[in-house]
Amino acid sequence: MFFKKLNCYELFMRRILHADMDAFFAAIEQQRHPELKGKPLVIGDSGDPRKMDLVSTASYEARKFGIYFKMPLKTARELCPHAVFLPADHKEYEKVSKRIKDILGKFCPIMEDAGIDEAFLDISRIDKPVEEIAREIKKMILNETGISCSIGIAPNKLLAKMAWINFLKNLGSLRVDISTRRRGE
Ligand SMILES: [Mg+2]
Repeated sequence: MFFKKLNCYELFMRRILHADMDAFFAAIEQQRHPELKGKPLVIGDSGDPRKMDLVSTASYEARKFGIYFKMPLKTARELCPHAVFLPADHKEYEKVSKRIKDILGKFCPIMEDAGIDEAFLDISRIDKPVEEIAREIKKMILNETGISCSIGIAPNKLLAKMAWINFLKNLGSLRVDISTRRRGE
């Protein structure tokens, strides 16, 4: 049984946390190759901008040049000729992903895997302010893997995932943490 049956009040007060790693593949490569930190970095299947491969992840430094997910590597090179292009190392990304899921699962066992770099946690039963929980999770993941993440918290999964959207900033009653939320990939 995933969730204990909740009464109406508890359902309304549910707190779902969505954790999403920031520029995940690029962040892992920047951890492995510290000389790439702070530089525009583009990860594609082959990493060869002469081929028709698409961008898997662009570092935030590369995004400033207009490079985004699924853009042809060729176009990315036109936009930012000095960017570093690397092939995707899915084996390594899976390994780091598993470590992060283990950290999240230990923090809160009611976890739903939502992809290689994201997960939902039902933190309704954790008796701490949401900001504190978000801070703790971000710190744990950063300390143990060097990867930073964005956290959204809301009464349901959809809103938690959408927490980076600006208009939600005004819905303070949803207790959405948008402090570091940025659009990821
Ligand atoms: Mg992400």
